Amino acid sequence: MNSKKFLILVALCFLSLNLGWAGGASSSSHPLVLQEMTWPEVKAYLEKCDMVIIPLGSTEQHGPHLPLGTDFYEAVGMSKLISARTGVMVAPLVFIGYSAYHSGFPGTLSLKPETLEEVIFESVEWLLKYGFRRFMFFNYHGGNNIIQTKVIHRINHQTQGIAIAIGHGSPLQPAGEDDGSMDWHAGVSETSIMLYLQPELVRLEKAAQPMMTFTPQMKELQQLATKDPSLRYVWSSLLGVPEETGKGGASHQLSSNGVWSFLDPRQATAEQGRQEVEEMVERAVKFIQAWKKAHQQ
Ligand SMILES: [Zn+2]
Repeated sequence: MNSKKFLILVALCFLSLNLGWAGGASSSSHPLVLQEMTWPEVKAYLEKCDMVIIPLGSTEQHGPHLPLGTDFYEAVGMSKLISARTGVMVAPLVFIGYSAYHSGFPGTLSLKPETLEEVIFESVEWLLKYGFRRFMFFNYHGGNNIIQTKVIHRINHQTQGIAIAIGHGSPLQPAGEDDGSMDWHAGVSETSIMLYLQPELVRLEKAAQPMMTFTPQMKELQQLATKDPSLRYVWSSLLGVPEETGKGGASHQLSSNGVWSFLDPRQATAEQGRQEVEEMVERAVKFIQAWKKAHQQ
């Protein structure tokens, strides 16, 4: 090999190191996913970066038109977009969440909150062993929020790691204005997000507006909340609870087809999904960039 060829080869190596996964702590256009990497790649990554994004989702019914894995695909999809823009690795640990209140629709799976907490925490202990120190949870299933909070507390109080939430349930992501549409589950928002992230999994022709049913107690609280908005907290705490509680708040008791919304999911568009996803991803990316910078000082 002559010296010119050698120089070109060295330049190419540099280029591939900077563009590929080895970019580690720097920007990269490809997402890094733990399960898709080899151990030498993880070793090289850890020499440059101790951050990891952990997506949390669920396997639960999402109406007649969205797949059971919707929350999982949303959490992983958005985590991968964040990874592509920050170079931070994504480590999916579990694809089942806490979803007991959706079990009236077949296919829904659920782990007890304490089981889920243990699975996530033990997996994090292994990541800590290899040198990961900064853990960011990107949750996209409301039922997981309490577990996310507990795991984050355990990591911060019992280990060398630092953990924070960057998705659903995070102060980085505003809860959104309550416009009365109750578009919470498999409605226009979530259908739009899936039309943007995984359109091949959306059966839009099967989408339909649900018939929503509320107990007399729920209706009364809803009515009283128009005068005293604080009562909405009681109203919403009655929704999304297992049938066994006797409160009428299980998914199949509230909704005729599993969708929770006063809107028609057929109004969903990929463009709305793109906007919602980009806003959430942007907030997380800005935070990660700030944390990286702060850590260098
Ligand atoms: Zn969902």
